[in-house]
Amino acid sequence: MDLHVHSTASDGSLPPAIVVERAVAAGLQSIALTDHDTLAGVPAAEEAGRRHGLRVIGGCEFSSAAPWGEMHVLGYFLPSASPVLEAFLERCRADRVRRAREMVTRLQAMGVALDYDHVLAQSKGGAVGRPHVARALVLEQLAQDVSDAFDRFLGRGRPAFVEKVLPQFREVAEVVHGVRGMLSVAHLKERGTRSFLERLKYEGLDAVETRHPSHDPDVRARLAGVATRIGLLTTGGSDWHGDPEPGSTHGTIGSQQVPAEWLDRLEAARPTAPEAVRS
Ligand code: AMP
Ligand code: ZN
Ligand code: FE
Ligand code: FE
Repeated sequence: MDLHVHSTASDGSLPPAIVVERAVAAGLQSIALTDHDTLAGVPAAEEAGRRHGLRVIGGCEFSSAAPWGEMHVLGYFLPSASPVLEAFLERCRADRVRRAREMVTRLQAMGVALDYDHVLAQSKGGAVGRPHVARALVLEQLAQDVSDAFDRFLGRGRPAFVEKVLPQFREVAEVVHGVRGMLSVAHLKERGTRSFLERLKYEGLDAVETRHPSHDPDVRARLAGVATRIGLLTTGGSDWHGDPEPGSTHGTIGSQQVPAEWLDRLEAARPTAPEAVRS
């Protein structure tokens, strides 16, 4: 099982149906497709999943405000046809476009001759992000590789970095729980202290991503310990983006060996439908 994978619906390099094929080839029984700020890849992944006997959970990786800047929150069991959720995600994607344009403007001001069309050629209508800008820079021979593009231009604190307009965690929690989804905070690494996770739990957090390629065994064990003590569930995933890029902390699909019971527990704890509460 793998509860954190990306496709071309955001900054992954393979289309959703191919992601599913690769998951099947890796021997997985289920995956959650968790593209950044979009559910656009989910129907195609579900369709491919039905053909190949792989369960696909509709998911999304949200960006939210954090004391250090930005934090990623995974939403699970998300419906593709919720107007409230879709309106929320549409605002996030519009802000990604605003930001990508601003990054290009900053690059141009530095004398780096990148065009927004080069970025669009990478994102192809998916939720646009810094990896698309980085790949465009590489293709235009303005950077050596993706990690060079982040180091010189796009990383936090670098000259072409532009912040997103980030929702607060509790806004994400409200939208996700409103559609009976569940929330796990992604790749917190050493920032996942007990006090911080307690605060997130108070604001609606359901689970913590303990297994992630960027988590060494110590981090993993500590996060799992905190989760047990404060009553959070656990999730894990490879954060697979398709073909590996130099310097990336994304794993191979299925590499995190996430137990199937983790998904069962998450699913069992889903909020009850509002109708059921009223009746
Ligand atoms: P964005 O959501 O546009 O800020 O892009 C964030 C994505 O960029 C992350 O999900 C990573 O996949 C990727 N990323 C962040 N930092 C680096 C880096 N130093 N090198 C390569 N990829 C990175
Ligand atoms: Zn990504
Ligand atoms: Fe992330
Ligand atoms: Fe991710």
